[in-house]
Amino acid sequence: MLPIRLEKLRCEFGATTAVDSVDLHIPKGSLYFMLGPSGCGKTTLLRMIAGFQEPTRGKIFFGDRDVTHTQPEKRNAGMVFQSYALWPHLSVFENVAFGLQVRGVSTAEQTKRVGAALEMVRMGNLAQRKPNQLSGGQQQRVALARAIVFNPEVLLLDEPLSNLDAKLRLEMRGEIRRICTEIRMTTVYVTHDQKEALSLADGLVVLRDGRIEQAGAPKQVYQQPCNSFVAEFMGETNFISGTVKRCDATSCEVETAAGMLQSDCGTASVGARVTLSIRPESLRIADGPNSIRGVCKSSLYLGEMSQHQIETPAGIVKVFELDPRETTRVGQQLSLRAQPDAVVVLAEK
Ligand code: ATP
Repeated sequence: MLPIRLEKLRCEFGATTAVDSVDLHIPKGSLYFMLGPSGCGKTTLLRMIAGFQEPTRGKIFFGDRDVTHTQPEKRNAGMVFQSYALWPHLSVFENVAFGLQVRGVSTAEQTKRVGAALEMVRMGNLAQRKPNQLSGGQQQRVALARAIVFNPEVLLLDEPLSNLDAKLRLEMRGEIRRICTEIRMTTVYVTHDQKEALSLADGLVVLRDGRIEQAGAPKQVYQQPCNSFVAEFMGETNFISGTVKRCDATSCEVETAAGMLQSDCGTASVGARVTLSIRPESLRIADGPNSIRGVCKSSLYLGEMSQHQIETPAGIVKVFELDPRETTRVGQQLSLRAQPDAVVVLAEK
């Protein structure tokens, strides 16, 4: 179990800078996510950590070991690809044993280690099948077994669930969490699916155009995004523009077209134009202080919640009502109340 450290890591492809001066510490034994929209540099970062892509500048450390120019096979990193990349003519057992054979591990030791890896991913009973006799989820389990069978110091996962249907993705999320907890390897997981990251990650980093926008724990990045890009990327939110009227160390008041709103953020300057981010699930349909009034224009009843669009003087505001008792609120005058800790003050969008 080793921490991974990236120092000023950069990768250029001709005129394109895929990764730009990334500094990052990934704690040992953690399940760490790299998250961001298509083209933000996630795969390039992972390929540099794996050793498949030479950085233009910067350094990569596994613990104290500088692996920046170390060959991939000497890094002791297991990798799982989006496409699984299983050998079609080999059985499940042979696919998992392949890496051990190449490393000259004895046949008896291979049998023991492949057996343990297949048990870990719950595929011990299908060891003799060929990949084309397996479901997508089972193939992904084999790919995981193949990556962990030689006890790598770090595990690298490149969008491992993107080829699975929604139900299987949920099931495999739980499995990946279980396996990572059991093997306690430092794991770097690349995805563009923020729900996957929020539900699994110990820590995560959001990338844009090759740069880190924000790094932190899932709850922190979701609830306290540092800018409107991160706020929007991590989930649905409402942006409301305003001007800071009062601010002290612990709270501030922002004047908006929908009235004065209070936030627990205490870092804005009086007079500054700002954008407030309020997540739809943190608004409550209730009267009281810190509320916005408007008329419901549409309601989508989903059983466990309703999603409403409210027309307010500050524009359309989305609100998620949990356990709704009415299927529609269209036409109703509503007051939407926000707790100050759910109102995030960001630089103007
Ligand atoms: P996706 O989610 O679509 O896989 P990503 O975040 O993983 O995207 P990368 O694949 O790392 O992004 O690509 C980052 C940028 O570098 C993109 O602009 C891409 O076009 C460019 N790029 C990646 N690989 C190469 C390459 N081999 N040659 C030239 N440009 C490349």
